[in-house]
Amino acid sequence: MRTPLIAGNWKMNGLSADAVALADGVVQRVAGLDGIETVICPPFVHLPGVAGRLSDGIHLGAQNCADAGQGARTGEIAADMLADLGVRYVILGHSERRQFYGEDDATIAARYAQALGAGLRPILCVGETLEERDAGRTQAVVAEQINGVIDRLGSDTGLGHGVIAYEPVWAIGTGRTATAVQAQGVHAFIREILGERQPGLADTMRLLYGGSMKPANAADLLAQPDVDGGLIGGASLDAEDFAAICAAA
Ligand code: PEP
Repeated sequence: MRTPLIAGNWKMNGLSADAVALADGVVQRVAGLDGIETVICPPFVHLPGVAGRLSDGIHLGAQNCADAGQGARTGEIAADMLADLGVRYVILGHSERRQFYGEDDATIAARYAQALGAGLRPILCVGETLEERDAGRTQAVVAEQINGVIDRLGSDTGLGHGVIAYEPVWAIGTGRTATAVQAQGVHAFIREILGERQPGLADTMRLLYGGSMKPANAADLLAQPDVDGGLIGGASLDAEDFAAICAAA
């Protein structure tokens, strides 16, 4: 059985008091829910403040980590620094990182390896743009992004310590959600890729859907057999909405 996972990506939002208030709001509403795992991913600077507010089953996540260990990497945050703060999960390869900061599969694989080395659980984001979907390239793009990490990690990939989030770029922050059928189709395809690369992983690895998930559409998406949870952007900034999505899982 795969335990459902709901992760909130707060992106670059909020001052320190906002972050603590939001964390408290989430904990109040989610702490009693059984059978799911919850992760909140504040901006780096709010991690220490939020860390002290969490309770059982609600974990701390970061939004990225460096592609190298501690040293001369101005502006980056090493994975072991995050682990030291109590961070358990780290989002990697988010489409905003790929789009605005030029992160490619090689960098993302290096970040993934660093995260694993520090004992963090990566949430690897993959997904196609609207252009790519319209050109019938969804499966090719998703396969390339996943294999781009697996190939670089080598045979003992440790991939299974992570989670994959399918996030169609056209659905992120746009209010446009993939239908449950579209999401299920790509998730089933991802399981196929995993099965080919690492038999056993296909059944155990959790696959999240991300892209304008909200209380109104969460139950439908989360009911799909290969959708094991969600990566939530906008709706994670509202404790009530985020808790409603958690309850739907
Ligand atoms: C995201 O950025 O990971 C995301 C899914 O955002 P939103 O829910 O706002 O579409």
